[in-house]
Formats: sequence, C-alpha cells, structure tokens
Amino acid sequence: MEMIRYEGDVYRPPSEARSLIIQATIGCSNNTCAFCRMYKAKQFRMRDIEDVLDDFRIARQWYRNVPRIFIADGDALIQPMDRWEKIFNCIKSGYPECERVTCYATPKSVLLKSDDELKTLRQNGLQMVYMGLESGNDELLKHMQKGNTAADMIEASQKLHKAGIAISVTAINGLGGIEYSKDHAIDTGKVLSAMKPQYIGLLTLMIERGAPICDMVARGEITPLSAEEILAEIKLILQNCDCEGSVFRANHASNYLPLSGTLNADKERLISLIDSALQDRTNLRPEWMRGL
Ligand code: SF4
Repeated sequence: MEMIRYEGDVYRPPSEARSLIIQATIGCSNNTCAFCRMYKAKQFRMRDIEDVLDDFRIARQWYRNVPRIFIADGDALIQPMDRWEKIFNCIKSGYPECERVTCYATPKSVLLKSDDELKTLRQNGLQMVYMGLESGNDELLKHMQKGNTAADMIEASQKLHKAGIAISVTAINGLGGIEYSKDHAIDTGKVLSAMKPQYIGLLTLMIERGAPICDMVARGEITPLSAEEILAEIKLILQNCDCEGSVFRANHASNYLPLSGTLNADKERLISLIDSALQDRTNLRPEWMRGL
C-alpha cells in the first residue's frame, strides 16, 4: 500500500499523539526563535495542495477510524483560505467521523485572518490551535527573536475566542535564565491571565545543541536555572495567573516536577506541591530523565 509522505521531522503536541497528522505546510513561517531548532533545516513553504489531498486519500486506506486530525507543520494556520477550504472539503467527504481538527498557529497567522475567516474555519471543524507564548515579557521575547510581542498574543487570543476556536498555549520556564527569571514569571502569569486560554502548558527550557540559545549561554547572556529556581519560577507564574477554568499542565517530560490541575481552583494545591518539592527533592525528575 502507498504511504503518507512527510518532509523532515514532523513535530506535534503531546495531546495529538493519536491523531492523523497531515503535512500541509513545510517548516515554520517564523523560524527565528533562538531556543528552537525544530524547523531550522526547513525553508518555510506551502506544500503542493494536490500532494496534501493525496495524503488524505492514502491515509484513508490505512486508518478506518480517525476522530482527530492535526495539520502540520509549524504554523499551518497561515495557509490562505482557499487551501483550508480544500482541506476541509476533503476531511468532510473522506473522514465524516472526524470530530476535531487542530494545528499550530502564531499570533501573526491569527491576526492576518479576518474575524469572518476565523469563524469559517471554526464552522468547518478547526476546533483548537496550539500557540507558543514562551514568555509574557517583551524584552525577553525580543532577546529570543520570537517575532511578536505579548500584546500580539493577547490580541490574537481575543480574536480566537470571538471565533470560538479554543487555545492551547505553552510557556517555557527558565527561558531567560537567572537574568530574566522574576520578570519572565510575573509577566507570563499576567499575559496568560489576559489571554485566558483553555489549556496552559509549561515546559522547562532544554538547551539543545544547534539552537542559537547555546551561544547565548556560552556568552554568559543567559545563566540556566537550577531545578529549585525553575520551581520558584512556576510558583511565581501561578501566583500571577488568574485563568478561571483553564486546564493547567506542567507534566511534560522536560519538567522537573509533574503538575496538573484546573485553575483557579487548584492553584493553592499546585503551589503547595511546589513548596513540598522544594523542601524534599525526592519527587523531582532527575536531569538525565528530562527530554523534549
Ligand atoms: S518556537 Fe515556534 S514560532 Fe519559534 S521557530 Fe520554533 S516553531 Fe517557529
């Protein structure tokens, strides 16, 4: 039987582990972030739409039941509406059982779409987008060459809420090292409060060889945090975060202490788990077990 084709490594959020993944764009439209090397080997472009549609046809031969579809790569939302229309027509006719379609998005790709276009995407089945806030601190975002401001993220969130598209957002603990830690934590908590995403995921910085942040560390611009300092940062984010109803997770493999709950109800419980872990390090994931 024919196989679906992927160019390069394909990345997806942990919650899309069981989803059908179809690559519609190649690489990331931004691709400048100093801490990320996911798509550095790829030049961003739209994949030939006929190849995309062909992959849907091929996947149907392999999978009988597909409740979830994730459209890759890095910023698939940026595709023009005529491509999205073809993709959704293909999903509706070929995968009538599909309950949810998701993709990665940047603030730019959200802000480039009109309110009506976002509503159309939602009506066609785009249920949620995954976005990287990384930090709520503008100075750190600029230092990391993120390519957007915290205000852009808030504005994009408001548009998505208006369209009824859910938001899953990640931030990165330790991103600014000791130098930015306090401002990073306070501003991230505040921006999350303004964004009010349905899902919040905290990752912990992994300094990957080949990512520009390696040189920043070598030059002494970023001093990596210890496990205890990372936990203190998470605590400060939570203390500054007012996100009633948001599902909160810091249980990714990069984290030292797995945490999960629903805000704001679980905020004090999560903080007391952090306090206990700071007193008794036995529950912390050892450095060698951390990963992306
Ligand atoms: S962090 Fe996201 S926006 Fe930045 S380069 Fe990586 S994939 Fe692109």
